[in-house]
Amino acid sequence: MSKYQILCMPGEGIGPEIVREGERVLRAVCKLYNLDVDITQHQVGESVQAETGYPMYAATQKLCDELQTNPNAGILFGAVSNEPIGILRKRYDLFANLRPIRAYPQISFASPLRPERVQGTDIMIVRELVSDIYYGDYSGGFDKQGRWAQQAMYYHETEMRRITRKALEVARQRRKQLHLVHKGNVLIDIFGIWRAVLKEEAMNFPDVDCQDILVDNMAMQMVLQPTGFDVLLCSNLFGDILSDLGAGVVGSIGLLPSASINEYGFGLYESIGGTAPTIAGQNKANPLSTILSVAMMCRHTFKHEEAAQLIEAAVEKTLAEYRTADLYENGCTLVSTSEMGDRVIANLGSSL
Ligand code: ATP
Repeated sequence: MSKYQILCMPGEGIGPEIVREGERVLRAVCKLYNLDVDITQHQVGESVQAETGYPMYAATQKLCDELQTNPNAGILFGAVSNEPIGILRKRYDLFANLRPIRAYPQISFASPLRPERVQGTDIMIVRELVSDIYYGDYSGGFDKQGRWAQQAMYYHETEMRRITRKALEVARQRRKQLHLVHKGNVLIDIFGIWRAVLKEEAMNFPDVDCQDILVDNMAMQMVLQPTGFDVLLCSNLFGDILSDLGAGVVGSIGLLPSASINEYGFGLYESIGGTAPTIAGQNKANPLSTILSVAMMCRHTFKHEEAAQLIEAAVEKTLAEYRTADLYENGCTLVSTSEMGDRVIANLGSSL
């Protein structure tokens, strides 16, 4: 049996195109470093839903059920417009969502901010992924004045504690600065607990500087001084919003990867972008977010930092010269999705 097991789930829209390039890079890296990885394909999403009434085949779900406690296993995910992404996150308790937001000097033109303000931005959003208002009780109705609806925000202390520990561990590996993003002036009880939890957990990380910041101020600071932050510890909703704001600040959703990991180390790796239906099937989408997600897989599942850095260096080198349409500028060579994959693979060799 192989040491590592990776399930590729391309999904819909641009998913199949960007996962194809991610998988090619994964195979290239496995060959370079002699990594023993079993890679299999699993169709998920609308087509499976239409055929079976559920967005995953039973065999795929059974395999994931078996692998969910295996730290040497993971999923390379493309994109879907609906399920099964929520099912995967919740069923396999992928609570720790890591979203690096980096400004690449090669594409400084793509940011709406002045280069001197955005260059050097290197933020890691650590987003809690399986609780919060997304999973809260909801109801709705209708009275004399019109319709009404409500949905509850819920967090248990254990959920806050495990993501807080994860964020502290991540900060320790980086620049050792952590901000808890909250709304404690309004959501007094929830963030009262969370701030107390951070205080307790931070005692085990005396080397990490911990602060807290209101989410509204954080949104403003992210634009005013994005280079001033390292790790942002976020609830599910705030992390969702701030990571798209971060994508806007650095200028490209097509470059941003993510990892979602459970207590056992089983991980799901995917671009933070969606299905992008307007460019799907045209070999135009930017595959770099998926390729960088493979780098995160090397780091977190294979525990192979050198392979992760090799991919990241190859992406940077490629970006200096070659661009897909979303990031094209004069002086660069316009390439398709598959050509971008070719260029990164070629640069893996030359980055060695
Ligand atoms: P969904 O409903 O699945 O979220 P969407 O198009 O509404 O799809 P995204 O897929 O996140 O949302 O896309 C937002 C914008 O970014 C779109 O204009 C899309 O074309 C662009 N985009 C997203 N991912 C990529 C990519 N990998 N390459 C190029 N453009 C992308």
